[in-house]
Amino acid sequence: MSTVAGITPGGTASANLKTAHEASVFGEAIDYFNEAAANLDLDPNIKRILTHPSRQVIISIPFQRDNGDLDVYTGYRVQYSFARGPAKGGIRYHPGVTLDEVTALAFWMTWKCAVVDLPFGGGKGGVTCDPRVLSDHELERLTRRYAAEIIEIIGPDKDVPAPDIGTNAQTMAWVMDTVSMHMRSHTPGVVTGKPLCIGGSRGRVEATGRGLTIAIQAALEKMGKTLARQRVAVQGFGNVGSVSAKLLAQQGAIIVGVSDQFGGIYDKRGIDVEAAMAYVTAATNEKRTLEGFSGAERITNEELLELPCDILVPAAIEDQLTVENAGRVKAHIIAEGANGPTTPGADGLFSQAGVTIIPDILANAGGVTVSYFEWAQDRMGYYWRESLVNERLEEVLRENFDAVWSLAQQRSVTLRTAAYMLAIRRVVDSLLTRGIYA
Ligand code: NAD
Repeated sequence: MSTVAGITPGGTASANLKTAHEASVFGEAIDYFNEAAANLDLDPNIKRILTHPSRQVIISIPFQRDNGDLDVYTGYRVQYSFARGPAKGGIRYHPGVTLDEVTALAFWMTWKCAVVDLPFGGGKGGVTCDPRVLSDHELERLTRRYAAEIIEIIGPDKDVPAPDIGTNAQTMAWVMDTVSMHMRSHTPGVVTGKPLCIGGSRGRVEATGRGLTIAIQAALEKMGKTLARQRVAVQGFGNVGSVSAKLLAQQGAIIVGVSDQFGGIYDKRGIDVEAAMAYVTAATNEKRTLEGFSGAERITNEELLELPCDILVPAAIEDQLTVENAGRVKAHIIAEGANGPTTPGADGLFSQAGVTIIPDILANAGGVTVSYFEWAQDRMGYYWRESLVNERLEEVLRENFDAVWSLAQQRSVTLRTAAYMLAIRRVVDSLLTRGIYA
C-alpha cells in the first residue's frame, strides 16, 4: 500500500471559457467549492484543510485470469474527510478511473453526506479496468484482492464502500465476505448496497432514482408545477438512469428519450421505460444496451442532451454538459443524477440562461441516504420494511432540499452554491467543534 501527496487545487473558473481545470475533474470540483466558500467568507486556514484529501491510496492488484495468466491492475481508495464520521463512498470499475477522478468523487461525497446531514465523511474507490470483459470469476478474484489490499483502512467505523459504475450488490458481497474472513468476524456494516440476504437494506437498489424523483418533485412544487406531462430526457440507463426514468414515468412524466454509452432512443409520445429496462436486462451479450430496441427513433448521446424537453437528467458520467453544448440544451430543469455531469463553464452559462440545476450532491443523495439506513440497520441487527425506508428517505431529502432552496433564495445564489454552502457549514462546524489536531 502506498500513499501519495494531495493534488494541488486551483482557482476559479470563468463562466464563459473552458478553463484548464476542466481537464482535471478534481479541479472542476474545487471550482464549485471556491464559489460557495467565497459566499461563506470562509477562513483561509479552514479552506486549505478542506481542499486537501485526508488520505489517497494507490494499490497494485495482481489477479489470476481464467486462462492462468496473472494480470496487474491499479486500484485507488481516497478518504477525503472524516470530520463528520467514517468515510463513505462507492467503488468504481471503469477504464477511465484515475486518482484525479476518484479524488473528485471522494470530495463530492463529503459534501453530499453533509448536505443531507448524514454522520459520514467522504470517500471513493476505483479500479482502472473494463468489468465487461472480465468473467464473474475474474471479477471475484479482482474484488477480493482489492478488498484485501485496503482492509486496514475500511470498516464500519472507518470507511464504508458501496457500489458505483461497474460494481453492484454482488461486488459488495465479495468485499464483505473478504473482510469478514480476514477479520474472523461477521462484518456486514463494512459495505452498503449488499444483497438483502446478507444485510442489505430494502429500497437501496432504487434509492438514488427515488431520491432524484423526490428532488425534481420538490423543485417543481416550489415553481408551482407538478410532474404530470413534463417531458424528460435521461442520459445513462444503468441503475440511476433507468430507475429515475421508471419512477418519473410512474408519476406522470413523459420520458421522451433515454440513452446509454452506445447511443439513445427518442419518442416524443413517450418511451415505454419498463419495456426498455426488460430489453436491456434480457440482452445476453456483454453490452447490455438499448441498441436494437424497437418502437423508438435511434439518436446519439449528443442529440439526447439537446432534445426538446422540460427536464434533463444526466445520469451517466462526468463532463457531459460543457461550454460547447450548453447553449443547445432546451431543458429548463437539469437534475444531476450523475456526479459532476456539468462543467463549471457550462454551469455559468446555464445560470445566466435561468436554467434551474438541482446539483448532484443533492439530486443523487438518495443512494447514500439509504446506504446510511443500511449501515444503521446492520449495526442494530434489526431490518426495516421498505415503506419505512422510503418514508424516511423522503423525509431526509425534503427537509434538506427545503433548506437548500431557502438559502438559495435568501442569498440570491444557485441551488448548487447553496447546497455547497450548507454542506461546508456543517463540515466546518464538526471540524471546529472537534478542534484541529495540528
Ligand atoms: P451504472 O454502471 O449502473 O450505469 C451507467 C450508465 O451510464 C450505463 O447505462 C452506461 O451505458 C452509461 N454510460 C457510460 N458512459 C457513458 C457515456 N459516455 N455516455 C452516455 N452514457 C454512458 O452506473 P450508475 O450506478 O447508474 O451511476 C451513474 C452515475 O450516477 C455515476 O456518475 C455515479 O457516480 C452516480 N451515482 C450513482 C449512485 C448509485 O447509487 N448507483 C448514487 C449516486 C450517484
